[in-house]
This record gives sequence, structure tokens and C-alpha cells, in this order.
Amino acid sequence: MHIRLAGFNIDSDTIELVNAVVEEYRFGDMASARLEELLERLRNEPLTPETISAAYARISRSPKSVHELRCDARDSVNRARESNERIVFGFGHASVAEHAVFNLDVSDISRLVIEELEGHRLASYTESSQRYISQSGDYITPEEIKNSKYTAEYHNLCRELFDGYRQLSTKLDEYYSSLPERARSGIAREDSRYVLPLSCRGQVGVTMNARTAEHIIRQSATSRLKEAREMSAQMLTILRRATPSLIRHTEPNLKINTSYQALGASAEKVGVSSKSDSIRSVKLLAFPVEAEQTALAAMLFAAGKSSFQDAKNYVASLSEAKRQTLLWRAHGYLDAHSPLLREMELGVFLFEVELSASAFAQLKRHRIATIIKQDYLPELSITIPPSIEAVSLKSHFISYTNKSQEFYNILLKNLPTENRPAAQYVLTNAHRRRVLLQLNARELTHFSRLRQDADAQWDIRNIADDMIKLAREKCPMLLLFAAGKDKFDDFREKIERGGQDR
Ligand SMILES: Cc1cc2nc3c(=O)[nH]c(=O)nc-3n(C[C@H](O)[C@H](O)[C@H](O)COP(=O)(O)OP(=O)(O)OC[C@H]3O[C@@H](n4cnc5c(N)ncnc54)[C@H](O)[C@@H]3O)c2cc1C
Repeated sequence: MHIRLAGFNIDSDTIELVNAVVEEYRFGDMASARLEELLERLRNEPLTPETISAAYARISRSPKSVHELRCDARDSVNRARESNERIVFGFGHASVAEHAVFNLDVSDISRLVIEELEGHRLASYTESSQRYISQSGDYITPEEIKNSKYTAEYHNLCRELFDGYRQLSTKLDEYYSSLPERARSGIAREDSRYVLPLSCRGQVGVTMNARTAEHIIRQSATSRLKEAREMSAQMLTILRRATPSLIRHTEPNLKINTSYQALGASAEKVGVSSKSDSIRSVKLLAFPVEAEQTALAAMLFAAGKSSFQDAKNYVASLSEAKRQTLLWRAHGYLDAHSPLLREMELGVFLFEVELSASAFAQLKRHRIATIIKQDYLPELSITIPPSIEAVSLKSHFISYTNKSQEFYNILLKNLPTENRPAAQYVLTNAHRRRVLLQLNARELTHFSRLRQDADAQWDIRNIADDMIKLAREKCPMLLLFAAGKDKFDDFREKIERGGQDR
């Protein structure tokens, strides 16, 4: 694991000062009094986002202009730091810390711990894609295994899985040789990666504010994986150095783990549920009742002067066709990229999905959704890409995932209890887990645009297709606008015609 501070926000007056010094160096007299004066000012200039947080914190109680407050904060970093500590931590006005923003390069991190990192929703991530980049054989060896008698076996398995990846990739490439180069290599990389282990090395660019950073540091410090705890320690060192007054409460809350342990005992009594009959397993557990009417009534409420109940009674008096026309008119502005009206958030759907690690890697990126996951469960079987079946490599593929699973079982049985979560590093992208997934109709439509699109990867596209089909059966109007963005124009035309027909 290697984390490097790539950037953070500083006051634009400071940036202007730096630019003025550079200009003077380039075009001015090197011995000028102006250059000397600019350099003197620059020497006293604080290079930290803490002054912006401190200045903004004072907006609520000071009659001064924001710009004046920023200048004051830059005049004394120590005072700005004291003010942050008092306001953010003393008064609990924690949102002030959100005005300090960092960019972090996170490299040499496993896919397993990337999952933990990206589970934190209030940050931005861009990650190297196994779909677009050929994997050269890089993987992480976690401390839990490095210090065990299973190290050699671990390396053998990881190397074998990477060999499997290369072989499958070559065979898929040959089989699809009639396709254009881009499509061919896409399928080869995209589908052969299903045998790669979760120990596979990746890298992520992360942008987060100081409040989120503190939360990630704190949560990751209690992770069951040492690699995640290492990530927490590195972030703490780097970010505390950059903004000492905004990263304060980072001590791990170990009670979180004990509460899951306590729940574990009761969960054991519930037992292990059998896997679903179909590999495409999406269940709709809950859907909103009268949600279309609620959303429409909320739109009329927002646009008018009535109470919500009166708006709801009015909507209830309309025919279904009239309601649909109203919904369509309200979204007449819609294109493939604009969001639905916020009122559509009032309809919430709950799904249970069994999905591969590969599909989960994509699903977890949808930050507005509530995602509650179990550990990977080899009992749920594996996802085999259709292309692998098409080239008759299914048994070859299964031989790799079986090896991974056998070693996983050995680690799970024999590692010391506290190190057992690390067994998951040897599972593959084909292994599956169960996830509870809650989305409102607005986010579900956004999910559909991205994941039902022709560019979407087939595994997550299948899941999105099933989710939309199930949700649409129950609430057709709420899902009126759900479609991959490539189909949006045709789809819009169809709905428009439907709207006019009435
Ligand atoms: C075909 C395809 C290829 C992809 N390839 C890659 C890749 O190579 N590497 C990679 O890292 N990712 C990749 N992604 C993931 C992609 O970048 C998004 O992270 C993911 O699709 C989630 O979408 P989102 O961020 O729009 O939406 P969500 O997180 O679901 O959020 C919904 C909406 O809420 C708003 N929102 C949520 N959070 C924020 C925020 N912090 N700031 C501002 N607005 C916010 C936005 O309007 C957003 O559209 C790919 C996705 C697709 C569909």
C-alpha cells in the first residue's frame, strides 16, 4: 500500500501570489524590490486548506465579508487552527471540516480493500479498470498470510490464477478473432478476469473532504483486514500533517466490531440459506405502495399552494392515463443525462441480489444507493461468463475457481480466528455474495441509464435488466423513464407518442 497526497485546496489569493512570483521570475528584474516583496509575502503565506475552513466557520457570526474573513484567517494560521478546533470539535459544527478537500493517490492496494475504501459514499473515486487494462500478474500478499505457514501455497495459487487469466484471455482472443481488435481484446480481458483473485493489485485516485477523511480513517482502523488498517494509518499520518486542526478524532471505535460479533452469534441461529435457483438472482423485497401518486402529489405540492393531502386527493381523482400524462409533462425537459425530479425519490425499492465480485465492484460505486453486503460466500456458486461457456472452457474455468475455493476453505479453517477474514483474498472475481440494495426511483433510473446501456458490462447489465423489470411490474409509472442512455432517444419518442395519444 502506498498513499501519496496528490493535492489539496488552498486560498486563491495564495495562488495569485505564487503566479505573481513566477511572472516576476520569468519576465521581471531578478533583483527587483517587487520580487523581494512578493517573496517575503509568499514566505508567510499558509499552504493549507485550514484557513478556508476557519474563514467559512466564521461566516455565520461575523458581519465581515467572506473575502475579509479569508484574509484574516491567512494572517494567522495558528488562530485559524485554534478556531477550527474550537468550532469543529468543541461546538460539534463538523460540516466546517468539509471545506478542506484532498486528493490522494492510493496505489499497491488489493481489490478487496478497494471495496472497503469505496464503500465510503461521501468521496469520489477513479479506479484502474480490469475491464480496460490487461493484468500483468501483480497481487498483494496480506500480512495475515505473509506471517503464516501458507505463504508458499498463497503465491502458487495467485500465480496459477494469473496463468489461468492469460490462457483464457488468449483463447477468447483467438475464438473471437473475426471481431475488430478492440471488441476482441475487450471480451478477452473482460471475461478472463473472472478467474483473477481479490488480492489483485489496483490503484485509485480519491478526492475527499477532511470530515469524510476522518470517518474513513476511523472506520478503516477497525477493519478486520490488516491492509485496510494500514491504509487508515497512512492516511492519518499524511492528512494530519496537511491539516492538523481538522483531522482529530481518529481513534478506532472497537465496539463496532464487538457489536457485529454479538450479532454473529444470533445470525448463526438463523442458519445458512441455500443459494438461489438461478445464477441471475435478483429479488424485489419491497416496493412503494401508491408511490406514483405520492410522487405526483409532491410535484403538485411543490408547484402550487395546496397541502400535500389535497394534492394527493386530486391525483387520486385522475385516471391512470391522466396521471401518466402529468408525469410525462413534468419531465418534458428530460434528456439522457438530466436527472428526474427530486419528488421521484419518494418511491423506494429494496432488492436482494446474489452477484459476482466483478459485478459488485461496479454496483458499489452507486453512492446514493444503500448497499448492505455479506462476506463472499463460495456456497453461492460462481458466475461464469457466457463467452467462456461459448468457447467450451467452462470446466477449465471451474478448475481455477475450485482451487481458489479449496484454499479459501483451508485458510478459513486454519488461520488464527482474527486473521480469517483474509481468506477472502484468494477468492476470485467469479465468486459471489449477497447484497441488500435500496434505491429510490430517481437513483434507480440513473442506475438504469448507466448499467442498462450498451457500454455497460454484461454482468451488471443483466442485474440492472432484472431489477428494472421487477420494479416496473409493480410501479410502471415510477420507472417510466428507466432505460440505458443509448436507448433514451427512441424511448423518449415512444413515451412522447404515448403521452400525446392520450
Ligand atoms: C461503462 C462504464 C465504465 C466505467 N469505467 C470506470 C473506470 O474505468 N474506472 C472507474 O473508477 N469507474 C468507472 N465507472 C464507474 C463510474 O465512473 C461511476 O462511478 C459509477 O457509474 C457511478 O455513477 P455516478 O457517480 O454517476 O452515480 P452515483 O454514485 O450512483 O450517484 C448518482 C448521482 O448523484 C450525484 N452524486 C453522487 N455523489 C456525488 C458527488 N460526490 N459529487 C457530485 N455528485 C454526486 C451525481 O449526480 C450522480 O450521477 C464506469 C461506469 C460505467 C457505466
